[in-house]
Amino acid sequence: MKIKRVLLIIIALLVIMIGFTLTNPFLISSKQPAPALTSVVLDEEAAVEHFSKALTYKTVSYQERKKFDLQEFNQFITFLKNSYPAVHEKLELELINDYGLVYKWTGTNPEEKPIGLTSHYDVVPILSGTEKNWEMDPFSGTVKDGLIWGRGTLDDKIGVIGIMEAAEYLLNEGFAPSRDMYFMFGFDEEIGGELGAKAIAETLKQRGIQFDFVLDEGGAIVENMVPGVDQPVGVVGISEKGSATATLSIKGSGGHSSQPKDRTNIGRIASAISKLEETQFDGELRGPGNDLFEFVAPEMSFGMKYVFANKFLFKPIIEKILLQEPATAALIRTTIAPTIFQAGEQYNALPEEASAIINLRIMPGDSLEDVEAFIVETIDDEGITVTLEGSEASNVSSTDGPQFKSIQQAARNVYEDAIIAPYLMFAGSDAKHYDSISDNTYRFLPVQITSEDLNRMHGTNEHISISNYLNAIKFYIEIMKETNK
Ligand SMILES: [Zn+2]
Repeated sequence: MKIKRVLLIIIALLVIMIGFTLTNPFLISSKQPAPALTSVVLDEEAAVEHFSKALTYKTVSYQERKKFDLQEFNQFITFLKNSYPAVHEKLELELINDYGLVYKWTGTNPEEKPIGLTSHYDVVPILSGTEKNWEMDPFSGTVKDGLIWGRGTLDDKIGVIGIMEAAEYLLNEGFAPSRDMYFMFGFDEEIGGELGAKAIAETLKQRGIQFDFVLDEGGAIVENMVPGVDQPVGVVGISEKGSATATLSIKGSGGHSSQPKDRTNIGRIASAISKLEETQFDGELRGPGNDLFEFVAPEMSFGMKYVFANKFLFKPIIEKILLQEPATAALIRTTIAPTIFQAGEQYNALPEEASAIINLRIMPGDSLEDVEAFIVETIDDEGITVTLEGSEASNVSSTDGPQFKSIQQAARNVYEDAIIAPYLMFAGSDAKHYDSISDNTYRFLPVQITSEDLNRMHGTNEHISISNYLNAIKFYIEIMKETNK
């Protein structure tokens, strides 16, 4: 009898549990604002002509600054002045380090916190040897069959031209913002942004300017990105990972290879790396990676919704699945990538020194100090010296305030089907430089593209459709309106 009663209790608990978990998917509601479709009508021909022309300037960033062709940068600035007369009449323009551009559009209400829209007009070089692989000359600005071709069409002259077109349009409509708006265009983002974005941020900081938010390039709207979601998903970076370099090195007696010690320098460094790869940092669904699923889950099919609505039960399984693919693993943990290994010169001599370099991309929440301690503890070899240099992850911006919502709303006013969700950027951008003068920094490129387009960004045949470009302009118009009500 006793066993029967226990069984009954277990069954009753199971029924309650199943009932509870089945109810949960119905309790999570969409985090997407209803679209208010944009009514903007653009002079499309003029807009395309401007973009095409902008692409012809060879504003190329090189690691060696002396290789910059500054003449081209000057000509680009002159081109902006000629193409956007209303902007240059009504907004103040300031040059930082001669080529960093800061436009200030003064609002009617000095009480409101300013916002910043930022982008960069330098582009990466065409890799030598790949020139002939381009279907169109990368600096011709060719417009053909509904496509605009050239270096910078995606990364990131579209941001500069999109913002300028939007401002010119609104000025011609008689629009007056309530808050101050700053447009900030860097000229060396591709090599770190030291003289551009960083210097702009420092200058504004000295003046005590603090933004409500800054919006930079970043994630885009991509189809088939999230399994279980039919709609395209647009991801807005709310943080970017830190990047650090760890050097592991060992020095000691070498000796002849005919009578080696049991533990050689090469063996010890190899073993240290092997331990790190076997251990790995913990993968945990938290922070921006978790936020992504919080926003996407309500739009998923029932099965997936069931899993994400009952995270208290399925979290370990979700984490296990995410850790199986490098792209999703990087979303939930600090990553370890050994990139350089140096030791030995001669086949019959044991090297006296051995070293390895590991590139780590650091999750928000993990500090450089944590990472170094993890490495030292994991490799557990006092003979190996560990040094770590790099940058911490950026701040994590809010997703529940009006700032993130205005980006969602503006995006959905243009791309009504897209689900707009926060995420974690793995790559670096200029946005981090604005962390110290902005309550929030977001990273979003308002275009709908494919994963092949993403590969073309720093590669061959970078191009964009005319409709995407026009939508980007409309997005910037919508965000300016949305934040000035
Ligand atoms: Zn870029």
